[in-house]
Amino acid sequence: MDKEINKLNFIINNSKNIVFLGGAGVSTESGIPDFRGKDGLYNQKYDYSPEYMLSIDCFLNNPELFYKFYFDKMIYDNVKPNIIHYKLAELEKRGILSCIITQNIDGLHQMAGSKNVLELHGNASSFHCMKCNKKYHIKDIKRNTVPTCVCGGILKPDIVLYGEMVDIDVSKEAMHVLAQSDCLIVGGTSLLVNTATSLLPYFTGKNFIIINLDKTPYDSYASIVIHEKLSKVLKKIK
Ligand code: NAD
Ligand code: ZN
Repeated sequence: MDKEINKLNFIINNSKNIVFLGGAGVSTESGIPDFRGKDGLYNQKYDYSPEYMLSIDCFLNNPELFYKFYFDKMIYDNVKPNIIHYKLAELEKRGILSCIITQNIDGLHQMAGSKNVLELHGNASSFHCMKCNKKYHIKDIKRNTVPTCVCGGILKPDIVLYGEMVDIDVSKEAMHVLAQSDCLIVGGTSLLVNTATSLLPYFTGKNFIIINLDKTPYDSYASIVIHEKLSKVLKKIK
């Protein structure tokens, strides 16, 4: 791995416009399980598939089931950013990382101090009323049932559910930052969700790097591939 780390160090320190595209694997070391990793939610047994319980279909037709899963598995109190989030925030401060595009909905990059974060799938802690559009934060809602607004409408979390599209402005901005970038680091994502993979062609820069515990379908396109924990790799970046 040392040879790859040396190469990575050189590339990072000689890039002017790095974009990091990440997923659930960025937050596993903060204690939030991923979906498809070894200990991920998809390897646990439920009566319904996680894809169904996080779908717009389930939300509209079985909101009790939706919210039971949501409050149990998608909301984590007292989690803190880990070294990966902090290291990326530091690269932004140094002026060499321009943007983080994340599939995560946990808000940990912002908590670590990153300013330019594009949340492809939204944020799990914010909600809006389906009837009057009033905004709510997770700390203001009761979690034991289907949460409702003062007007009586059902609250919907501000995340992209299975069966929904990514916000068009967020997609456009992600395409734009990728098109400007000279180095794309993809990390902690299985690259199996097409909201992320459909963005990859917009990157035409020099260095495409993948750091992920498991193999991804895009490994053969990358100039450096490291199958290791992101924390272990980023710790070695000077
Ligand atoms: P995924 O679960 O499909 O894949 C995660 C990948 O990260 C796996 O390939 C795994 O090998 C790797 N990984 C795990 N820990 C790692 C580490 N410490 N270092 C390096 N790699 C590590 O996740 P995905 O591709 O992001 O897709 C899952 C979807 O689920 C996303 O749409 C996301 O919105 C959502 N999700 C979000 C969170 C969160 O906000 N923290 C958590 C779970 C799922
Ligand atoms: Zn309302």
